[in-house]
Amino acid sequence: MGSALHVRKNDKVIVLSGDDKDKEGRILKSYPRERRVIVEGVNYIQRHIRRSQQHPKGGIVEKEAPIDVSKLMLVCPHCNKPARTATTRLAGKDRGRVCKRCKQAIGSPDKK
Ligand SMILES: [Zn+2]
Repeated sequence: MGSALHVRKNDKVIVLSGDDKDKEGRILKSYPRERRVIVEGVNYIQRHIRRSQQHPKGGIVEKEAPIDVSKLMLVCPHCNKPARTATTRLAGKDRGRVCKRCKQAIGSPDKK
């Protein structure tokens, strides 16, 4: 089952607003229900780790936090620019995405 988000896992995206504006990265994980995704190298948060058996010293780790998909735009793999996409029906199958800039189909890397 595909998600209803305009971006999917493994898509390259660019951040449109916020602290990470203009950063590009690949989507590592998506949470369609929350309409959030984790983008490689984007939206780092510092997490304080309590002392535990696993982390005997405790401390701070940096980790990507989920970011709202409305702040992201897909980067077209064909023309390599931030692109709006149109949705088309491909041969009775699933809906596919087409770059509005170069008209090329953008695959669904989370399938197959
Ligand atoms: Zn394109």
